Amino acid sequence: MSYAEIAFRVLRKFTQGVIAEADLHTLCRDAYNFDVPLEPVAGRDRTCVMRLDQGPTASFKDFAARMMARLIGRFIREQGGRLTILTATSGDTGSAVASAFHGVEGIRVIVLFPIAEVSDRQRKQMTTLRDNIRTVAVDGKFDDCQALVKRAFADPALKAFPLSSANSINIGRLLPQSVYYFYAAARLANRGEAMVFAVPSGNFGNMMGCVFARQMGLPVKRLVVPVNANDEFPRFLATGEYAKIEPSRNCRSNAMNVGHPSNLARLVAVYGGQMDETGRIHRGPDLAAMRRDLFSSSISDERTRETIAAAWREHQLLLEPHGAVGWAGFLDYLAVEPLASAPAAVLETAHPAKFPEEIEAALGFSPPVPPSLAALDRLTEDFDRLPADYEAFRRYLQERLGR
Ligand SMILES: *Cc1c(COP(=O)(O)O)cnc(C)c1O
Repeated sequence: MSYAEIAFRVLRKFTQGVIAEADLHTLCRDAYNFDVPLEPVAGRDRTCVMRLDQGPTASFKDFAARMMARLIGRFIREQGGRLTILTATSGDTGSAVASAFHGVEGIRVIVLFPIAEVSDRQRKQMTTLRDNIRTVAVDGKFDDCQALVKRAFADPALKAFPLSSANSINIGRLLPQSVYYFYAAARLANRGEAMVFAVPSGNFGNMMGCVFARQMGLPVKRLVVPVNANDEFPRFLATGEYAKIEPSRNCRSNAMNVGHPSNLARLVAVYGGQMDETGRIHRGPDLAAMRRDLFSSSISDERTRETIAAAWREHQLLLEPHGAVGWAGFLDYLAVEPLASAPAAVLETAHPAKFPEEIEAALGFSPPVPPSLAALDRLTEDFDRLPADYEAFRRYLQERLGR
């Protein structure tokens, strides 16, 4: 089956009674009109890199954003009214959400990003769209942006304005992110055969897609969840003690600079535990089961760069920093448990051309640039700027949303 067909078969179980099947089918074909390459890794049997970077903004965030924009756009059309999508980004969510909602009637998007922590191309993808898209550079870190957005949702003074989130706490993002695990299994595994997936992780939305796929019945031998130097999760898995990292550490894989993953409470709940907003654990999850299903290690910036070089040298595999964290974590897993003959997919979550400086530093050449990214260099940018201060942000919203 095509990717769009698999998406339709998986998602219809959740949209029954809400969206007619024929409509969902059209929507899936329209959202997933790009390739999802499974690149075999030279010298390794049954191991592929799944490149989730062929969408319009060249990261895996397109998979969820394009489905969510179509669904929300449809509901707004049916119900009338207006909606503002408020989102914080560490780089790729903002561009994927902005691109997916650009020009959608009745919807306005406000994206907050940390001014010094996104790459030039990531920033230009958001700041050159205009129309119903507004971007705000925050003098702070991603965690500051996320905190501002969360406070706005809970602020009684903004109650009059319909707001919605596009961050990975939104279930509308997690379900589309479960589809590519089925797609990989359909291409790589025999019927009923369990696969290994390696998913470079930050806010744990992508890996939750795999956890949900497994709960839907997909056989998964092990879910490998590598992180960068923000190592709160592998520490938790090893010790059972959770300590978030504040402020988060600034690593080259910038979309994973998260010191307290917003989906962690969900993962803990899947294993019978309870964690609150602040990261305090009120009931411990079944750690033994978590350790059986998951594997996690932390990859330093230095190892990330070495991995970009080694993957190219040994396998002609071109990886950017996030994919390199994924690949290095996969190798850590192989050192502990042999694959035997199990098929494996390691996710590459962004296009190498989004991080040309990193590729040049590690490999000495620039990656080929897809047309969607090349066009950005000719466009002019437009964005607002705010301190990491809630009162200033509230005034900004009241002024904008009141128009
Ligand atoms: C967002 C992002 C990640 C992390 O995904 P989570 O769902 O937050 O764990 C990894 N790589 C890239 C390129 C991203 O944009």
